[in-house]
Amino acid sequence: MKRKDFVKTSSLIFAGGMLMPQLSCNSKPEENMRKNWAGNYAYKAGNHYEPASPEELQQLVKQLDKQKALGSRHCFNDIADSPKNQISTRRLNKMLQLDTGKNTLTIEGGARYGDFAEELDSKGFALHNLASLPHITVAGACATATHGSGITLGNLASHVLAFQIVTPQGEIVNVDRSNPDFSGLVVGLGAVGIVINMTLEVEKSFQVRQDVFQELPLALLQQHFDEIMSSGYSVSLFTNWLDQKISQVWIKRRTDKNLTDLGNDFFGAKAATKNLHPIIELSAENCTAQMGVPGPWYNRLPHFKMGFKPSGGKELQSEFFVPHGNAVEAILALEKKKELISPQLLISEIRTIAADNLWMSPCYHQDCVAIHFTWKQNPDEVGKLIPMIESELAPYKVKPHWGKLFTVSPSVLHERYERFRDFLALVKKYDPDGKFRNHFLDLNIYS
Ligand SMILES: Cc1cc2nc3c(=O)[nH]c(=O)nc-3n(C[C@H](O)[C@H](O)[C@H](O)COP(=O)(O)OP(=O)(O)OC[C@H]3O[C@@H](n4cnc5c(N)ncnc54)[C@H](O)[C@@H]3O)c2cc1C
Repeated sequence: MKRKDFVKTSSLIFAGGMLMPQLSCNSKPEENMRKNWAGNYAYKAGNHYEPASPEELQQLVKQLDKQKALGSRHCFNDIADSPKNQISTRRLNKMLQLDTGKNTLTIEGGARYGDFAEELDSKGFALHNLASLPHITVAGACATATHGSGITLGNLASHVLAFQIVTPQGEIVNVDRSNPDFSGLVVGLGAVGIVINMTLEVEKSFQVRQDVFQELPLALLQQHFDEIMSSGYSVSLFTNWLDQKISQVWIKRRTDKNLTDLGNDFFGAKAATKNLHPIIELSAENCTAQMGVPGPWYNRLPHFKMGFKPSGGKELQSEFFVPHGNAVEAILALEKKKELISPQLLISEIRTIAADNLWMSPCYHQDCVAIHFTWKQNPDEVGKLIPMIESELAPYKVKPHWGKLFTVSPSVLHERYERFRDFLALVKKYDPDGKFRNHFLDLNIYS
């Protein structure tokens, strides 16, 4: 490995109170750690730390100046970057306590859902939902209001009951739902402290079957949107916007509910005859099992399996939330732009998310539908399309996903987030000297 590829990591060396990042060159992921997962963004932070314990994390946060927590690097923008120091949480990934009486799980913030889901299931418990992939960290996902689909299911942060953070001063603060700051801190955009661990609400383990239908006519979606999106515990629509069709409908149903036979014809869509990848040309090997085969929640709620590459890999992503009631009109408005969209598109996905009370969640007090775009990795062309889409969706009060690509202006963002001013006040209260400030926060929150 070349010298320039070395990454500073800690295993911390505390020498006379000084913090020395230790050079290390022995692990492949560290080379990758200088870019986000998709490789479209190279982090500017000069120093990279990997504390191995909450105590090390505490020391680091206290002694370093500008810094930012880094999860599994799955954001597509610079939200996880810092002008100076990035603190990776990947060694803080332990399952700490499963309270089977209270139905709670306490887990370190750097744990990826796929790291602990199987063990949780083996103990008889489940999370309410997962994102399309299990490769992301709990704290990183909650910080950006990451979500799956489900008409009655809130995003992943909506099931956080309590958490412990390290403040910029290096103090550990416990926050639970009785704390008036709680709802502002959970979707914290990495701006308020570094999460050491989170306590999540869990429920008894359940099995899910996944059925996929192909070629749903757009006209029928328009007429039966709510019926279609309610046809399962979690429903996702995939489309390339062409041919007035939804190319795939993924219906995930819990087997502990009374299930009716969906038959071969679902609102004009035909039952798939084999497992599919949402990007039809790609192998379904990376995808969770379909064809109605029941399996544990952690192996059906995400579309992609742990240990396999999720999505397309070389890609960009954007996602836009509109209030549920505006969804059909928003979808039809975008369909009119298909000639512009489809040449740069790998696939779009449409999902539902239930309202929550988290200030910086796009679903604050509002059931939402999220319209997602997995783009080809052509930043210039995609960069022109994103503002066009945002402007088409502006009449529908669109909000972008915090972790994906967007250009909505800060003033518009502030207007659309009812609790924006309260959040800014909270950020200033918890991080008065701006240790966690970065370009993303300067632009979108502080400006
Ligand atoms: C292939 C793919 C599929 C995706 N699918 C979905 C999906 O289905 N639904 C969806 O909503 N999103 C999805 N995303 C987006 C992804 O879930 C979010 O970007 C998420 O925030 C990534 O988590 P991470 O652990 O990689 O965090 P990072 O990208 O590393 O960091 C994200 C933010 O969290 C902060 N952070 C991380 N750890 C901590 C901590 N311990 N304490 C405080 N702040 C912290 C960082 O500072 C940063 O601000 C997908 C992304 C990819 C690449």
